[in-house]
Amino acid sequence: MKQKTGSIGVTTENIFPIIKKFLYSDHEIFLRELVSNAVDASQKLKTLGIAGELKADTDNLKVRVIVDKKAKTITVRDNGIGMTAEEIEKYINQIAFSSAGDFLDKYKNMENAIIGHFGLGFYSSFMVSDKVEIISKSYKEGSKAVKWECKGDPEYSLTEVEKDEIGTDVILHIDEESVEFLEKNRVQELLNKYCKFLPVEIVFGKKTSWKDGKESETEEDNIINNTKPVWKQKPADLKDEDYKSFYRELYPLNFDEPLFNIHLNVDYPFNLTGVLYFPKIKSNLEINRNKIQLYCNQVFVTDSVEGIVPEFLTLLHGVLDSPDIPLNVSRSYLQSDSNVKKISGHITKKVADRLSEIFKDNREDFQKKWDDLKLFIEYGMISDEKFYERAEKFALLKNTDLEYFTFEEYNKKIEENQKDKDKQLIYLYATNVEDHYSYIKAAKEKGYDVLLLDGQLDMHFINTLESKFKDSRFVRVDSDIIDNLIKKDEKTESVLNDKEQENVRLVFQGVAPEQKSFWITCDSMSENDMPVIITRDEYMRRMKDMSALGGGTGFYRDLPDDYKVIINTNHPLIVDLSSKLEKKTLQQRIELDDKLEDLQKNKSELEKALEKFKKDEEKPVEEKKKLEEVNDRILSLEEEKTGIYKDFGKKQKIVSQLFDLALLANNLLKGESLSNFVSRSVELLKK
Ligand code: ADP
Repeated sequence: MKQKTGSIGVTTENIFPIIKKFLYSDHEIFLRELVSNAVDASQKLKTLGIAGELKADTDNLKVRVIVDKKAKTITVRDNGIGMTAEEIEKYINQIAFSSAGDFLDKYKNMENAIIGHFGLGFYSSFMVSDKVEIISKSYKEGSKAVKWECKGDPEYSLTEVEKDEIGTDVILHIDEESVEFLEKNRVQELLNKYCKFLPVEIVFGKKTSWKDGKESETEEDNIINNTKPVWKQKPADLKDEDYKSFYRELYPLNFDEPLFNIHLNVDYPFNLTGVLYFPKIKSNLEINRNKIQLYCNQVFVTDSVEGIVPEFLTLLHGVLDSPDIPLNVSRSYLQSDSNVKKISGHITKKVADRLSEIFKDNREDFQKKWDDLKLFIEYGMISDEKFYERAEKFALLKNTDLEYFTFEEYNKKIEENQKDKDKQLIYLYATNVEDHYSYIKAAKEKGYDVLLLDGQLDMHFINTLESKFKDSRFVRVDSDIIDNLIKKDEKTESVLNDKEQENVRLVFQGVAPEQKSFWITCDSMSENDMPVIITRDEYMRRMKDMSALGGGTGFYRDLPDDYKVIINTNHPLIVDLSSKLEKKTLQQRIELDDKLEDLQKNKSELEKALEKFKKDEEKPVEEKKKLEEVNDRILSLEEEKTGIYKDFGKKQKIVSQLFDLALLANNLLKGESLSNFVSRSVELLKK
């Protein structure tokens, strides 16, 4: 054979424009494809060497990436097994081309394929080149070196050439639109992204050194990859420090150390290796900054692993490597793929096992790390039933004294004391020790324990726990007075009778600030409890919190904040207030009530008389007018009565003072009201 030309067997007249068009956004993968081919060829030679079929040198296998900016070429050179003319015919002209054709057929229907890996292989080089040459010499004895050349149309040529060493050069003549790939930095970036952990050394130029403020090249090859990343090594051979330094290698810009890691190593029924790290997750902001990287035989594929692992696991960092994840399919297909399901199930189990192991081996350490792990574990428990089942044995609850309990331990702790009269077990919680200080104190004085649920996912987590725990409820300590949160049978007698209670209630109603909705009630608590307490309904607050978390403008979110103001009718100050009220206003009220009683009588007589007439127009005008007058009179007397309470409340500074103190305890007293409170307090002290 001296020279041969031919036409490549594809149906599409010209496949290259299509390749370019379809893969526009992803041209950069050509380098990954070519370097992987070169690595494969090198490894094949090595395998042959081990099998003893070879006399060639396999100790010094390297892949070189050479950029010649002047000639506008990128060469990927290997000293691997090489190809004979026949093999080029077969692998490059026939097989690769048809697979490129297949790929395009498939790709047309793939809207969200995992961009970046499609097995387009060698032909992806035409995305960036207007001419590609292959110069290759096979390892097989007596092989002649050949040169294949193709200009991006179905015509190619194949010639014999001179080449001493076995191996392959693939030379890309970079086209006008792709000159960016002739920049050293760009190539370096791509090698770093895709080839960082390939198993054969990749050389890109020479190492540089700084001398007298100048950077100059040394004699030493610049090797850009780590051929033995930890995930490919045996766990037994590795120390903690090895994992940590690999973490730094993966995420050079992350300065936090991971909490711990999991080494995955499965070869049946699927092949999966990798190392996952538990990062410290403190806030939403950090999520998704560093992602799990997916590799296929040490070649980087993607760092968007959604659909391959359960969502909560995407919070982890690290590397997964599996040739068994089908990557040339759409994401929705991925989730239903049985291999992917198995892999994802396996990873979930491993993660849970590892956590459980750390919990069992060193609980103290686990507790120390809990706050950083919590978001991840809760997310998993909320979103993954299987994970919940495993995690419920090691997930922790922290109380406001910063003690940690497993679910079972905590249940035991509160079981006895915190059951209400309906046998519901009440989990009390606070979301902030400072804000809820007085409520926590009140609960503790009753001998109750209060959990601290201040995490970002805790609202959702509570819902999950309520659906799992039998006969149990979670209530925030400030959502009612403690005796109502855990209702027991015994009830404290009230010093004030019903009527007096109602009167006191009206007095407080009269001083309530108007801009917020306050619902005022009375309750007989211990005289040692606060005289006035403000609470927020658990249900409403939760709904509001949840819709705020959801972001949108939900129904609940737009409702005004609802506060319950509870007056302790057994507190000496309130009892005192009540007796003053009765003393000072009783006479006035009795007079008003007498008048009202008469009017009510009058009203019902008039109504009775009018009822006799069926149609409105038949009713005597005179009578109707009278009724209207009586109604107006009733209204104005009632207003007058409210005014009595209001006036009394205004005069008795203690009413506003107590109300404000309750507001203050909830951080609700602001601006002018706060300033009024301060002046009033000073005045009261003067007396
Ligand atoms: P794939 O790598 O997925 O098989 P490619 O289109 O990249 O598809 O390559 C087709 C074939 O060409 C390879 O399977 C291999 O046999 C051969 N080949 C490609 N590049 C090289 C190389 N650098 N050295 C030896 N053989 C190669």
